[in-house]
Amino acid sequence: MRITAFPDLADWRRTWPQGQPAAKVLDALAAAGGEGRFVGGCVRDALLGREIRDIDIATNLDPEKVLMALAAAGLKAVPTGIKHGTVTAVADHIGFEVTTLRHDVETDGRHATVAFTDDWQQDAARRDLTMNALFCDAAGNIHDYFGGLADLKAGHVRFVGDPAQRMDEDYLRILRFFRFHADYATGDFDAAAIAAATQRRHELKRLSGERLRQETLKLLVARRGVAVWGDMMARDFAGAYLPWATSQDRLVKVAALETRLQLSADAIRRLAALAITGRGADIAETLRLSNAERDRLLAATDAHPIFDAADDAAIRRQIYMLGNDRARDRILLDWEPGADEGAWHRAFDIVQSWPRPTFPLAGRDLIKLGLAAGPELGAKLEELEQWWIAGDFAGDATACLAEARRRLG
Ligand code: ATP
Ligand code: MG
Repeated sequence: MRITAFPDLADWRRTWPQGQPAAKVLDALAAAGGEGRFVGGCVRDALLGREIRDIDIATNLDPEKVLMALAAAGLKAVPTGIKHGTVTAVADHIGFEVTTLRHDVETDGRHATVAFTDDWQQDAARRDLTMNALFCDAAGNIHDYFGGLADLKAGHVRFVGDPAQRMDEDYLRILRFFRFHADYATGDFDAAAIAAATQRRHELKRLSGERLRQETLKLLVARRGVAVWGDMMARDFAGAYLPWATSQDRLVKVAALETRLQLSADAIRRLAALAITGRGADIAETLRLSNAERDRLLAATDAHPIFDAADDAAIRRQIYMLGNDRARDRILLDWEPGADEGAWHRAFDIVQSWPRPTFPLAGRDLIKLGLAAGPELGAKLEELEQWWIAGDFAGDATACLAEARRRLG
């Protein structure tokens, strides 16, 4: 084990955007006679100078004591996964996952039975990758039990211990290996890990949809996620659990467009790019997507005519029918690179700058004009809406009412 002091890290209370609230949590644990150390993504990213997203904290206090420690410090505590040792601490409206040190008692590739411990090394040993097993204490010292610092520096995504055994304990680590490779590796796949993963790729479909979802969505927006998905397809990993997500060329195109158009990488849009037409539902089901994610994926992947970027009026009509977000998805997915890109740029400019308008009339307006509620009213309203759309949405409420009066005699 090596402890290395990082003077830059020592200042985390001031330099991390979530430093002040995080300090409240560490202080609360210390006041209760325990210790909290940062672990996982925040340590990795802090060491690399990357933006820190969520903060995970490991502690030698058991979960009941964590709850008491947080209560004593006046912090909100949510027992999110108390059986597995996880309590979410809320400080200044920011959530921190505080997890008691654990070791595995039993694993079956999908679930683990854990026991709590106060041994930091045991906890590090059950983590997947060496770069994920680094603890950063309150003074900014890195506690490195498995050579994670050197691997992080070298861009070497490597398992703690024997990769085959670690994957057999939890098959999700196969996907996590690819995700972290895509985000942190500089060279080829670790040879032992890719060999072990290849042998086990068909186990992926046994994992729960929720777990597959989380890793897949993160993988698709990882730094080199697009290229790594291509590798996974070539090696039959994608096929092993998501055989409908194989349109790699379209993923490459959409990701390049996101960069060119200065959009942030969007996991659901990238998934839609990969999807075979008509198979969005299979993907949504396999990954247990949320309702909103599924609806968006279906809208982008159900059979539909290619987006018509021929003229401004056609573009606006489609935005009106789809809404701006779905229209934006379709424009990127259907974009034809090369030949005449002017039309696609125009469509993109319009979807960004022209918010879908709302039809100015409602049923009650026609009732005021003397029409009775019922199917006829619905049909009239629809007719007027079509007239308004055909007029390129130019009519305001007054113009629409005038037209209604004219049509109703
Ligand atoms: P990020 O939050 O940026 O996605 P992370 O490394 O924090 O990355 P999490 O999924 O939040 O990833 O997990 C936090 C830490 O918990 C990991 O760094 C790792 O040490 C450990 N961990 C998470 N999932 C597993 C797993 N399936 N097997 C072993 N260790 C895991
Ligand atoms: Mg994390």
